[in-house]
Amino acid sequence: MAWSKKGLFLAVFIGLIFASNAFGQKHLFPTAPFTEINKNSVEQLENDIRNLVPTCATMLSQKLLTEWPRKRNGWPKRLKIDFVQNAEELQLEGHAETSGDFFVRMTFNAAPFINGTADLKMTVCHETAHAFYRYKLSMGEYSRIPRWLREGSAVYLANQVLEKERKALFNFWLKNENPLNGLDGKHSFKDYYEDSLALVFLKERFNADLNFLQDLIEGKSWEESITKLTGLSASDFIKEAKLFADQYLAQQTDHLSAELKLLISDYKSRNYVASTRLAKEILNVNLSDKEKQNSLDAGLAISVLINSYQKVETGIYEKAILIPAYFYGNDKAQLRYKMAGAYLENNQAERALKFYSLVFSDHAEVPILAQSATAGILRSYVALAQWENVLDWSEREKGLHPSNLVEYRYYRGLAYQGLGKVDKARKLFSQVCQMQDNRVFRDKACELIK
Ligand SMILES: [Zn+2]
Repeated sequence: MAWSKKGLFLAVFIGLIFASNAFGQKHLFPTAPFTEINKNSVEQLENDIRNLVPTCATMLSQKLLTEWPRKRNGWPKRLKIDFVQNAEELQLEGHAETSGDFFVRMTFNAAPFINGTADLKMTVCHETAHAFYRYKLSMGEYSRIPRWLREGSAVYLANQVLEKERKALFNFWLKNENPLNGLDGKHSFKDYYEDSLALVFLKERFNADLNFLQDLIEGKSWEESITKLTGLSASDFIKEAKLFADQYLAQQTDHLSAELKLLISDYKSRNYVASTRLAKEILNVNLSDKEKQNSLDAGLAISVLINSYQKVETGIYEKAILIPAYFYGNDKAQLRYKMAGAYLENNQAERALKFYSLVFSDHAEVPILAQSATAGILRSYVALAQWENVLDWSEREKGLHPSNLVEYRYYRGLAYQGLGKVDKARKLFSQVCQMQDNRVFRDKACELIK
C-alpha cells in the first residue's frame, strides 16, 4: 500500500492532536497481535528485581558505612516487594515507589522495565536507597527530611544523575523547559535532576556528599549536618545550590559542539527538515561507533528525530532502538511509534504492525501514543489485506476526528470488498464519496464506484 508522505504525516499529526489525554479505553479495542508483557516476562522481571535488591543494598552499605541486616537467604530484613502488572491500574510517579514503616514495601510497575523505557538496576537501587533510609529511620523521621533531599539522595546514590540529566537537558534545550526552580520550589518528579545536583554541589565544592548522606542515615538533622560540613546555614545552602545548578546548566550548554548548537537552533526554529538531516548525519557517525552510541550527541540527535514530524530510513531507527532509552530521555514509546510509521511508509507492514502493537499494548505510560497506535494498527492491517482484522479495528468510531472517520469507513469498504461482500462495500464507498472531511479518501471512494 503506497502512502503519500504528506498524507501520512498529516494523519499521524491529526491522530496525535485528537487522541484523548487519558487512554482508559483500551479494553474497547481488540487485542493487538504483539505484546512483550506477559506472565513470563513479568516473572522474569520479579526474579531480576529480587536478585538486584541485595546487590544494591551491599553497594549502599559501602557508601553509607552502615549494614542492613540480612535474612538467611541474603535478602534484607523487613523488606517486601509488590508488582503492578497492569500499568493502567496505577500510575506510579517514576515507575516505582517505596512506602511502609516497620515493614518496608517497594512497589514496581512492571511495564516500563519490560518495554525498555526505564533502567531496571538504577531504579531498583533508587528504591533500595529509600527503603534503606526508611529501615534505619522511623517513617516519621524519614518523612521529616524534605522531599528534594529524599529524592536527590536516592537519585545520587543510585547513580541516576546522568539518566535524569539527559531528559532535563533535552527538555531544556529543545522545549525551553527550565528544570531548575530552587530546591524549595514546587516539587514534582521533573525536579529529581535538580534535587540530585544538590549532592553534586556538596561533592564538587566541599567533598562532603557521602559524609552528609551518612549523617542522614544516622538520624542527624540535615540542617545541622549541612552547617557542620559546609559552614552554610540550611537556607543559604539552598540558595547556593541553586546558583551552582544554574552555572552547571549554563556550562553544559556552553560546552556543546557547534554542530549540536546548530541542531538545537534548527529544531527550535521548527526547521524540521534541516534538523532531521543534521540529526541523521550525527547518528550515522555516532551509531556506527560503539563508544559513541551512548554519547550526548547521539542521545540529542535521537531526541530531535523523534520530536520532529519527519521520518528517516528504518535502518537508523533500528540502530537507535538498541540504545538504552535513558540516553535519549526515556522516550522509547516515541521511538517505536516513529519506527512503525517508517516501516509502514516503506511497505513493511508486518514490521509496522509489530511496533504499533507494542506501543498500543505495552506503553500505557504514554496514553496519547497508545491511542494513536490504534490507527497505525488499522493501516498496517489494510496494507496486509487482512480484512477480518480491518473490520475489527475500524469498528470503533467514537471519538474519531472526522477526517479519520472518512478514512476508517473507506477501509471498511475495502475490507468488505476483499471479503466478497460487494453490496456492503459499495454502500460504504458511496457514503464516503459524499463525505467532505478528507478529500484523499473521498476521491478514492468515488473512483471505486464510478
Ligand atoms: Zn524516589
